[in-house]
Amino acid sequence: DGAAGTGGKRVLLAKPRGYCAGVDRAVITVEKALEMYGPPVYVRKEIVHNRHVVDTLRERGVIFVDETSEVPEGGLVVFSAHGVSPAVRAEAEERNLRTIDATCPLVTKVHKEVNRFARNDFDIMLIGHEGHEEVEGTSGEAPEHVQLVDTPEDVDKVQVRDPSKVVWLSQTTLSVDETMERVEQLRARFPEIADPPSDDICYATSNRQVAVKAMAAECDLVLVVGSRNSSNSQRLVEVALQAGARRAHLVDYAHEVDESWLDGVETVGVTSGASVPDVLVMELLQWLSDRGWADVQEVTTANEKISFALPRELRAGAGSSV
Ligand code: SF4
Repeated sequence: DGAAGTGGKRVLLAKPRGYCAGVDRAVITVEKALEMYGPPVYVRKEIVHNRHVVDTLRERGVIFVDETSEVPEGGLVVFSAHGVSPAVRAEAEERNLRTIDATCPLVTKVHKEVNRFARNDFDIMLIGHEGHEEVEGTSGEAPEHVQLVDTPEDVDKVQVRDPSKVVWLSQTTLSVDETMERVEQLRARFPEIADPPSDDICYATSNRQVAVKAMAAECDLVLVVGSRNSSNSQRLVEVALQAGARRAHLVDYAHEVDESWLDGVETVGVTSGASVPDVLVMELLQWLSDRGWADVQEVTTANEKISFALPRELRAGAGSSV
Protein backbone atom coordinates (compact mmCIF):
# COMPACT_ATOMS: atom_id res chain seq x y z
CA ASP A 1 0.00 0.00 0.00
CA GLY A 2 0.99 3.65 -0.29
CA ALA A 3 3.73 2.94 -2.81
CA ALA A 4 2.73 6.02 -4.78
CA GLY A 5 3.18 8.30 -1.81
CA THR A 6 6.51 6.93 -0.66
CA GLY A 7 8.48 7.48 -3.86
CA GLY A 8 11.55 5.28 -4.04
CA LYS A 9 11.85 4.84 -0.32
CA ARG A 10 13.30 1.45 0.53
CA VAL A 11 15.51 -0.26 3.06
CA LEU A 12 18.30 -2.68 2.22
CA LEU A 13 18.96 -4.94 5.18
CA ALA A 14 22.36 -6.60 5.32
CA LYS A 15 22.70 -10.29 6.08
CA PRO A 16 24.75 -11.42 7.89
CA ARG A 17 24.52 -8.77 10.58
CA GLY A 18 24.34 -8.74 14.37
CA TYR A 19 25.27 -11.46 16.82
CA CYS A 20 28.27 -13.63 16.03
CA ALA A 21 28.87 -17.01 17.63
CA GLY A 22 31.35 -15.60 20.16
CA VAL A 23 28.98 -12.91 21.41
CA ASP A 24 26.03 -15.30 21.57
CA ARG A 25 28.13 -17.67 23.66
CA ALA A 26 29.39 -14.92 25.97
CA VAL A 27 25.91 -13.56 26.68
CA ILE A 28 24.48 -17.04 27.31
CA THR A 29 27.43 -17.74 29.60
CA VAL A 30 26.53 -14.82 31.86
CA GLU A 31 22.82 -15.71 31.79
CA LYS A 32 23.61 -19.32 32.75
CA ALA A 33 25.97 -18.18 35.50
CA LEU A 34 23.14 -16.06 36.93
CA GLU A 35 20.79 -19.03 36.76
CA MET A 36 23.21 -21.53 38.29
CA TYR A 37 24.81 -19.40 40.99
CA GLY A 38 22.44 -16.45 41.46
CA PRO A 39 23.48 -12.81 41.69
CA PRO A 40 25.82 -11.17 42.12
CA VAL A 41 27.81 -12.39 39.16
CA TYR A 42 30.78 -10.18 38.46
CA VAL A 43 31.94 -9.57 34.89
CA ARG A 44 35.34 -8.11 34.18
CA LYS A 45 34.85 -5.34 31.57
CA GLU A 46 31.78 -5.26 29.36
CA ILE A 47 30.90 -8.85 28.47
CA VAL A 48 30.46 -7.62 24.88
CA HIS A 49 30.65 -4.03 23.67
CA ASN A 50 26.93 -3.26 23.54
CA ARG A 51 25.09 -0.84 25.79
CA HIS A 52 21.74 -2.61 25.62
CA VAL A 53 23.24 -6.01 26.50
CA VAL A 54 25.25 -4.58 29.38
CA ASP A 55 22.31 -2.58 30.80
CA THR A 56 19.99 -5.58 30.58
CA LEU A 57 22.42 -7.87 32.39
CA ARG A 58 23.11 -5.22 35.02
CA GLU A 59 19.39 -5.10 35.79
CA ARG A 60 19.47 -8.85 36.30
CA GLY A 61 22.19 -8.76 38.93
CA VAL A 62 25.48 -8.57 37.05
CA ILE A 63 28.12 -6.25 38.46
CA PHE A 64 30.54 -5.01 35.84
CA VAL A 65 34.03 -4.21 37.10
CA ASP A 66 37.15 -2.90 35.43
CA GLU A 67 39.56 -5.14 37.26
CA THR A 68 39.32 -8.34 39.27
CA SER A 69 40.70 -6.42 42.29
CA GLU A 70 37.17 -5.00 42.62
CA VAL A 71 35.66 -8.48 43.08
CA PRO A 72 35.36 -9.63 46.71
CA GLU A 73 37.49 -12.65 47.72
CA GLY A 74 35.80 -15.88 46.64
CA GLY A 75 33.43 -14.08 44.27
CA LEU A 76 32.40 -15.39 40.87
CA VAL A 77 33.79 -13.49 37.90
CA VAL A 78 33.27 -13.97 34.18
CA PHE A 79 35.98 -12.91 31.76
CA SER A 80 34.55 -11.10 28.73
CA ALA A 81 34.49 -12.24 25.10
CA HIS A 82 37.53 -10.06 24.36
CA GLY A 83 39.89 -12.22 26.41
CA VAL A 84 42.33 -11.54 29.23
CA SER A 85 46.08 -11.65 29.71
CA PRO A 86 47.76 -14.31 31.87
CA ALA A 87 48.42 -11.58 34.46
CA VAL A 88 44.69 -11.09 34.92
CA ARG A 89 44.15 -14.84 35.34
CA ALA A 90 46.94 -14.98 37.91
CA GLU A 91 45.48 -12.09 39.86
CA ALA A 92 42.06 -13.76 39.95
CA GLU A 93 43.63 -16.95 41.22
CA GLU A 94 45.57 -15.12 43.92
CA ARG A 95 42.34 -13.58 45.15
CA ASN A 96 40.62 -17.00 45.16
CA LEU A 97 38.02 -15.90 42.67
CA ARG A 98 35.87 -18.46 40.95
CA THR A 99 36.22 -17.78 37.23
CA ILE A 100 34.28 -18.54 34.09
CA ASP A 101 36.06 -17.73 30.86
CA ALA A 102 33.80 -16.35 28.10
CA THR A 103 36.72 -15.46 25.84
CA CYS A 104 35.71 -16.10 22.23
CA PRO A 105 37.51 -19.19 20.91
CA LEU A 106 38.63 -17.11 17.91
CA VAL A 107 40.37 -14.68 20.26
CA THR A 108 41.94 -17.59 22.13
CA LYS A 109 43.27 -18.79 18.79
CA VAL A 110 45.21 -15.53 18.38
CA HIS A 111 46.53 -15.82 21.97
CA LYS A 112 47.90 -19.24 21.04
CA GLU A 113 49.55 -17.84 17.92
CA VAL A 114 51.25 -15.16 20.03
CA ASN A 115 52.55 -17.83 22.39
CA ARG A 116 53.82 -20.02 19.62
CA PHE A 117 55.69 -17.25 17.80
CA ALA A 118 57.05 -15.89 21.08
CA ARG A 119 58.39 -19.35 21.97
CA ASN A 120 60.19 -19.36 18.62
CA ASP A 121 61.57 -15.93 19.54
CA PHE A 122 59.85 -13.96 16.78
CA ASP A 123 59.13 -10.25 17.01
CA ILE A 124 55.36 -10.02 16.72
CA MET A 125 53.70 -7.04 15.03
CA LEU A 126 50.18 -7.01 16.43
CA ILE A 127 47.92 -4.90 14.22
CA GLY A 128 45.13 -3.51 16.37
CA HIS A 129 43.65 -0.51 18.12
CA GLU A 130 45.54 1.01 21.00
CA GLY A 131 43.70 0.57 24.28
CA HIS A 132 41.19 -2.03 23.03
CA GLU A 133 40.65 -4.78 25.60
CA GLU A 134 41.30 -7.56 23.14
CA VAL A 135 44.70 -6.12 22.23
CA GLU A 136 45.62 -5.74 25.90
CA GLY A 137 44.79 -9.40 26.52
CA THR A 138 46.53 -10.69 23.40
CA SER A 139 49.74 -8.71 23.83
CA GLY A 140 49.75 -9.65 27.51
CA GLU A 141 50.53 -13.25 26.47
CA ALA A 142 54.09 -12.22 25.58
CA PRO A 143 54.59 -8.50 26.22
CA GLU A 144 58.30 -8.65 25.53
CA HIS A 145 57.72 -10.02 22.02
CA VAL A 146 54.71 -7.98 20.93
CA GLN A 147 54.64 -4.48 19.46
CA LEU A 148 51.32 -2.85 18.66
CA VAL A 149 50.83 -1.41 15.18
CA ASP A 150 47.80 0.84 15.01
CA THR A 151 48.60 3.82 12.76
CA PRO A 152 50.88 4.08 9.69
CA GLU A 153 53.32 6.00 11.93
CA ASP A 154 53.57 2.95 14.18
CA VAL A 155 54.96 1.00 11.23
CA ASP A 156 57.95 3.38 11.12
CA LYS A 157 58.47 3.15 14.88
CA VAL A 158 58.62 -0.60 15.49
CA GLN A 159 62.04 -2.16 16.03
CA VAL A 160 62.94 -5.75 15.28
CA ARG A 161 65.96 -7.75 16.35
CA ASP A 162 66.14 -10.08 13.34
CA PRO A 163 64.24 -9.14 10.15
CA SER A 164 63.98 -12.81 9.20
CA LYS A 165 62.04 -13.55 12.39
CA VAL A 166 59.09 -11.21 12.24
CA VAL A 167 55.41 -12.09 12.00
CA TRP A 168 52.24 -10.01 11.91
CA LEU A 169 49.07 -10.97 13.75
CA SER A 170 45.93 -8.92 14.29
CA GLN A 171 42.94 -8.06 16.39
CA THR A 172 39.84 -10.03 15.30
CA THR A 173 37.58 -7.05 14.56
CA LEU A 174 39.52 -4.80 12.19
CA SER A 175 38.74 -3.50 8.73
CA VAL A 176 40.00 -6.17 6.36
CA ASP A 177 41.17 -3.62 3.77
CA GLU A 178 42.87 -1.32 6.24
CA THR A 179 44.67 -4.25 7.82
CA MET A 180 46.04 -5.34 4.46
CA GLU A 181 47.32 -1.81 3.90
CA ARG A 182 49.14 -1.97 7.22
CA VAL A 183 50.57 -5.37 6.29
CA GLU A 184 51.91 -4.01 2.99
CA GLN A 185 53.55 -1.14 4.86
CA LEU A 186 55.13 -3.62 7.25
CA ARG A 187 56.24 -5.80 4.36
CA ALA A 188 57.92 -2.83 2.71
CA ARG A 189 60.05 -2.45 5.84
CA PHE A 190 60.44 -6.17 6.58
CA PRO A 191 60.21 -8.13 3.30
CA GLU A 192 60.55 -11.44 5.13
CA ILE A 193 57.65 -10.81 7.52
CA ALA A 194 55.60 -13.98 8.01
CA ASP A 195 51.81 -14.10 7.69
CA PRO A 196 49.56 -15.57 10.39
CA PRO A 197 48.91 -19.30 9.97
CA SER A 198 45.21 -18.46 9.40
CA ASP A 199 43.11 -15.28 9.32
CA ASP A 200 42.99 -13.48 12.64
CA ILE A 201 40.18 -11.18 11.56
CA CYS A 202 37.25 -13.42 12.36
CA TYR A 203 34.58 -14.75 10.01
CA ALA A 204 31.91 -12.54 11.59
CA THR A 205 33.88 -9.32 11.15
CA SER A 206 34.74 -10.03 7.53
CA ASN A 207 31.28 -11.34 6.61
CA ARG A 208 29.61 -8.20 8.00
CA GLN A 209 32.01 -6.02 6.03
CA VAL A 210 31.35 -7.94 2.80
CA ALA A 211 27.59 -7.59 3.37
CA VAL A 212 27.66 -3.85 3.96
CA LYS A 213 30.00 -3.35 0.99
CA ALA A 214 27.57 -5.19 -1.29
CA MET A 215 24.81 -2.66 -0.67
CA ALA A 216 26.66 0.54 0.26
CA ALA A 217 26.94 2.01 -3.24
CA GLU A 218 23.15 1.91 -3.60
CA CYS A 219 22.55 3.61 -0.27
CA ASP A 220 22.03 7.31 0.36
CA LEU A 221 22.35 6.56 4.05
CA VAL A 222 23.66 3.54 5.96
CA LEU A 223 22.63 3.10 9.57
CA VAL A 224 24.80 0.76 11.62
CA VAL A 225 23.33 -0.35 14.92
CA GLY A 226 26.13 -0.68 17.46
CA SER A 227 27.92 0.98 20.36
CA ARG A 228 30.73 3.55 20.12
CA ASN A 229 33.24 1.26 21.82
CA SER A 230 32.46 -1.66 19.50
CA SER A 231 35.37 -1.98 17.11
CA ASN A 232 33.66 -4.12 14.50
CA SER A 233 30.57 -1.83 14.48
CA GLN A 234 32.68 1.27 13.91
CA ARG A 235 34.50 -0.48 11.06
CA LEU A 236 31.12 -1.09 9.39
CA VAL A 237 30.54 2.67 9.25
CA GLU A 238 33.97 3.24 7.69
CA VAL A 239 33.61 0.37 5.23
CA ALA A 240 30.15 1.62 4.16
CA LEU A 241 31.55 5.07 3.41
CA GLN A 242 34.57 3.67 1.56
CA ALA A 243 32.27 1.46 -0.50
CA GLY A 244 30.20 4.42 -1.69
CA ALA A 245 27.43 5.11 0.82
CA ARG A 246 26.71 8.85 0.80
CA ARG A 247 26.39 8.97 4.57
CA ALA A 248 26.77 6.43 7.35
CA HIS A 249 26.11 6.67 11.06
CA LEU A 250 26.42 4.48 14.14
CA VAL A 251 23.48 4.42 16.57
CA ASP A 252 22.80 2.39 19.70
CA TYR A 253 19.04 2.83 19.39
CA ALA A 254 16.50 3.92 16.75
CA HIS A 255 15.69 7.06 18.74
CA GLU A 256 19.26 8.26 18.21
CA VAL A 257 18.69 8.63 14.48
CA ASP A 258 18.62 12.33 13.60
CA GLU A 259 15.62 12.88 11.32
CA SER A 260 17.64 15.37 9.24
CA TRP A 261 19.84 12.48 8.09
CA LEU A 262 16.83 11.31 6.06
CA ASP A 263 16.53 14.52 4.03
CA GLY A 264 16.64 13.66 0.33
CA VAL A 265 17.23 10.00 1.08
CA GLU A 266 15.59 7.18 -0.86
CA THR A 267 17.59 4.06 -0.04
CA VAL A 268 18.59 3.39 3.56
CA GLY A 269 21.00 0.55 4.29
CA VAL A 270 20.74 -1.12 7.68
CA THR A 271 23.20 -3.42 9.40
CA SER A 272 24.52 -4.08 12.91
CA GLY A 273 27.72 -5.04 14.66
CA ALA A 274 28.56 -8.48 15.98
CA SER A 275 27.55 -7.55 19.54
CA VAL A 276 24.09 -6.25 18.67
CA PRO A 277 20.87 -8.17 19.48
CA ASP A 278 18.53 -8.21 16.47
CA VAL A 279 15.67 -6.72 18.51
CA LEU A 280 17.46 -3.37 18.21
CA VAL A 281 17.55 -3.71 14.42
CA MET A 282 13.83 -4.59 14.39
CA GLU A 283 13.13 -1.42 16.41
CA LEU A 284 15.07 0.61 13.86
CA LEU A 285 13.11 -0.97 10.98
CA GLN A 286 9.86 -0.06 12.77
CA TRP A 287 11.10 3.50 13.27
CA LEU A 288 11.94 3.74 9.55
CA SER A 289 8.63 2.17 8.56
CA ASP A 290 6.77 4.80 10.61
CA ARG A 291 8.49 7.41 8.44
CA GLY A 292 7.69 5.82 5.10
CA TRP A 293 10.55 3.35 4.68
CA ALA A 294 8.42 0.22 4.91
CA ASP A 295 9.82 -1.66 1.92
CA VAL A 296 12.60 -3.84 3.33
CA GLN A 297 14.76 -6.04 1.12
CA GLU A 298 17.31 -8.32 2.70
CA VAL A 299 20.66 -8.47 0.88
CA THR A 300 22.33 -11.77 1.71
CA THR A 301 26.02 -12.36 1.05
CA ALA A 302 26.61 -15.35 3.34
CA ASN A 303 24.79 -17.82 5.56
CA GLU A 304 26.51 -18.32 8.90
CA LYS A 305 26.15 -21.67 10.61
CA ILE A 306 28.95 -21.49 13.15
CA SER A 307 28.32 -21.86 16.89
CA PHE A 308 30.57 -22.53 19.88
CA ALA A 309 30.13 -24.83 22.87
CA LEU A 310 29.70 -23.07 26.22
CA PRO A 311 32.75 -22.64 28.47
CA ARG A 312 33.57 -25.93 30.13
CA GLU A 313 32.80 -24.46 33.59
CA LEU A 314 29.12 -24.37 32.56
CA ARG A 315 28.74 -27.64 30.73
CA ALA A 316 26.66 -30.32 32.41
CA GLY A 317 28.56 -32.06 35.18
CA ALA A 318 31.36 -29.54 35.27
CA GLY A 319 29.55 -27.03 37.45
CA SER A 320 31.40 -28.12 40.55
CA SER A 321 34.67 -26.74 39.22
CA VAL A 322 33.35 -23.21 39.73
FE1 SF4 B 1 34.54 -13.96 18.30
FE2 SF4 B 1 34.60 -12.59 16.02
FE3 SF4 B 1 32.50 -12.47 17.54
FE4 SF4 B 1 34.75 -11.31 18.35
S1 SF4 B 1 33.50 -10.72 16.59
S2 SF4 B 1 33.38 -12.55 19.59
S3 SF4 B 1 36.25 -12.78 17.53
S4 SF4 B 1 33.27 -14.33 16.49
